[in-house]
Amino acid sequence: MSRILFIGLGNMGAPMARRLADAGHELAVQDLDPDRVAALASASPRIRAAAPEDRARAEVVVTMLPTSDSVEAALEASGLVGELARGTLVVDMSSAEPVRSRALADRLGAAGLRALDAPVSGGVRGAEAGTLAIMVGGEDADVDAVAPMLRELGGTIAHVGGHGAGHAAKALNNLVSAASVVATAEAIRAARSFGIASQRFVEVLNASSGRSVTSEQKAERFMLSGTFDSGFPVGLMNKDVAIAVGLADAQGDPVVLGAHVAKIWAATAERFADADHTRMYELLDRIAVG
Ligand code: NAD
Repeated sequence: MSRILFIGLGNMGAPMARRLADAGHELAVQDLDPDRVAALASASPRIRAAAPEDRARAEVVVTMLPTSDSVEAALEASGLVGELARGTLVVDMSSAEPVRSRALADRLGAAGLRALDAPVSGGVRGAEAGTLAIMVGGEDADVDAVAPMLRELGGTIAHVGGHGAGHAAKALNNLVSAASVVATAEAIRAARSFGIASQRFVEVLNASSGRSVTSEQKAERFMLSGTFDSGFPVGLMNKDVAIAVGLADAQGDPVVLGAHVAKIWAATAERFADADHTRMYELLDRIAVG
């Protein structure tokens, strides 16, 4: 079992940290929001608020933060890198920017630390159930070292390449997912306008070639129900889509559909960044895409 410093206790981080504690790891936790730290520390005898000695003793640091900016702030601007013991393995499970992750891994290496990027797919329910898909970038030996811990969180662990590759795969996955959310939402709306009952149409999608995670897990549960509570907001989806399109552009690979999908999410995020991403179903006729 490992001594883990876990940073970022939001929609995803809190259930992931709880799972690791339930699996027997010792967790010291950190978040900008002290209420989140207190709530989690009271949830398990194996979780406590991180103190300076926990930072020095950590064998693994997990970050589950919104963006590359917040990851760099938590690790570097805070001075944490200087508090960690040499050889500590830093696993960034946030959905962050691949090029910045690669540079961060180099800087951590220069400070005597080891780094992996290991972002996830599967949402809050996947985090609670330990069924996340985890995409990992980094050195083989470091992936092997942390694989038992990752297996507590995910059903699929795919080592996709060197530093940054996990973050690249994650952003590109979310580009596909973001396109599917828009396509499914607008198809349900068009079917409804034509007089086809929405639930019936979703059943048709799920039995046909239009089937996807959106149609199977989001359409009825979050869109048609009107709950819009998947736990993943428009702002984070927009961030991921922008990363994916920026990455493809930088490689000289055109993303024709992706560029338009990015415009849709950017226009939505301008006004509705905090709305759940499944609310796209409702917002489609309220956004102006240039
Ligand atoms: P969230 O906004 O719910 O939580 C982020 C947490 O990080 C907050 O508690 C915040 O206070 C904390 N934080 C921010 N900056 C910090 C800092 N410098 N130091 C310490 N704590 C800090 O986000 P989330 O939904 O848990 O997502 C985390 C990451 O996982 C994001 O990159 C997101 O894109 C990705 N992701 C989210 C989902 C989802 O369904 N929510 C699914 C897959 C991947």
